Amino acid sequence: MEPDSRVLVLNASYEPLHIVPLHRAVKLLLLEKAELVEANEGHVRGLNCSVQRPSVIRLNRYVKLPQMQVPCTRRAVLQRDGYTCQYCGASPGAEALTLDHIVPRAHGGMTTWDNVVAACRSCNGYKANRVPQAANLTLRTTPRQPTRVGMLHATLHKHAVWHAYTYQ
Ligand SMILES: [Zn+2]
Repeated sequence: MEPDSRVLVLNASYEPLHIVPLHRAVKLLLLEKAELVEANEGHVRGLNCSVQRPSVIRLNRYVKLPQMQVPCTRRAVLQRDGYTCQYCGASPGAEALTLDHIVPRAHGGMTTWDNVVAACRSCNGYKANRVPQAANLTLRTTPRQPTRVGMLHATLHKHAVWHAYTYQ
């Protein structure tokens, strides 16, 4: 999706909640379940009306969210680690990064948030089936399970208009 076709939804408290497709945001506006906070250029037409093309909307009613766990996927791990090799600090781009099991799978290491980090191919190849200490490698950060809000913030930082709505 292009950034323009996505809309940031804020809770009634102005906390960022999630990012939705444009049509979903327009529906919330037309149903008067949300108000427009920031608009992009242009308008979107509804049945009998047209609304300004939203970039940020705010729900009229406060939504209480359950604590949701972020699944440990390749994409989510790369995002958590800032697309940076956690051993040498290189940022070769998402395509050139691999996932490294800190305790190798061959030694019973699991694919869990505290055992998987982003690693460049050369560090991963060099480490091979060893724990970092055995390969004389040091992790730059201690990997942890990210929060849903933390992951959302990583996205907000990429869009100038949304940046103002981060609160960390
Ligand atoms: Zn590396």
